[in-house]
Amino acid sequence: MLKDQDRIFTNIYGLEDTGLKAAKKRGDWSRTKTLMNKGREKIIAEVKESELRGRGGAGFSAGMKWSFMPKEVTDRPHYLVVNADEGEPGTCKDREILRNEPHKLIEGALLASFAMNANAAYCYVRGEFFRETEALQRAVDEAYEAGLIGEDACGSGYKFDFYIHRGMGAYICGEESALIESLEGKKGQPRMKPPFPANCGLYGCPTTVNNVESIAVTPAILRRGASWFAGIGKPNNTGPKLFNISGHVNNPCTVEEELGIPLKELIDKHAGGVIGGWENLGAIIPGGSSVPMLPPEICETVTMDFDALSAVKSGLGTGAVIVMDKNTDLIRAICRLSRFYKHESCGQCTPCREGTGWMWRMMERMASGDAKVEEIDLLEDVTRQVEGHTICALGDAAAWPIQGLIRHFRPLLEQRIADRQAGKSTEAA
Ligand code: SF4
Repeated sequence: MLKDQDRIFTNIYGLEDTGLKAAKKRGDWSRTKTLMNKGREKIIAEVKESELRGRGGAGFSAGMKWSFMPKEVTDRPHYLVVNADEGEPGTCKDREILRNEPHKLIEGALLASFAMNANAAYCYVRGEFFRETEALQRAVDEAYEAGLIGEDACGSGYKFDFYIHRGMGAYICGEESALIESLEGKKGQPRMKPPFPANCGLYGCPTTVNNVESIAVTPAILRRGASWFAGIGKPNNTGPKLFNISGHVNNPCTVEEELGIPLKELIDKHAGGVIGGWENLGAIIPGGSSVPMLPPEICETVTMDFDALSAVKSGLGTGAVIVMDKNTDLIRAICRLSRFYKHESCGQCTPCREGTGWMWRMMERMASGDAKVEEIDLLEDVTRQVEGHTICALGDAAAWPIQGLIRHFRPLLEQRIADRQAGKSTEAA
């Protein structure tokens, strides 16, 4: 369990003032110029050594990503883009940072931008986050006024600007290249890669896109040292992480815990346990709606980290835990997600545009029991034809929840079909 002294987000619940003065008291903006004086190479090396893996879902090494940026600025400026689109169902961690810890994000953006030779950061905020945008703008204004950012950021002589851009609520704009397109004023559709953003990103310039939480933890890593961060959690799965626990628990919450905490402990200690007790558990989606759900016997022992969850064919994703009790109609729940992904497909590649519709329609028939048993394999086959055959990961995100359902709950699907054929009422009320 994470020790109190290792907590990074000490005001994540907004119990204290979120303004600059209070943020400074909590340690934000302390010795920032000294941190910059470490130099670019050292900052990137420290973030690499900390083994920080991106907190937006993919789990790629943040330091490694930064090191892909060109070393020198030539005729094209460099940019940092902060992804605050947070659209994954079940996920609500970044908005707490925007609301209650905005200075950590701005300071982190300065340090990350400095390390990558970027003089500007763009923060792309989900359109619905109106109050969060206001809170972030207030903090940006304070930081400018105090000289922490601007022409001479923190007295370092480095020029740094922070811009906020509000999206319009499209899930696909959380995909980094679609986000860049949207920032440029175009339709939010993912780009073919290569070229990758580090070579050709925003306005055709070298760009790194990072999740809010990944950037907001950077000052703590640089201040307290890479080994401190790497010493929390498990090897290759290091550091504290914000988890969201929602659904059928007694106390839905957002909590900072160390990576590698057992899933059961996370739910019992912080969310007051499953409603009706652990025996009443139906299934858990451990990392936001796009990762495959897990049955109770796996949830009993699995730990909340990238490697352990991928070993059981699921994923840590954004760390958003969705708990479903035994009363949940699991088939209908996954069907609902299929509809979501169909709706959010940007439509530019065929397997996703057509496949998400097929999968949703088949899931509707699975949920009502009107499908045939052999269609379960056909549905599985469709998910395999979508997975890995699309421009961006939305195709995978649409396929995985269905694969999880079939992998662990095939008898439920078969029973539903049998009940329907026997003329019994099928779906839960
Ligand atoms: Fe668009 Fe879907 Fe293709 Fe992604 S996978 S580019 S969302 S059509």
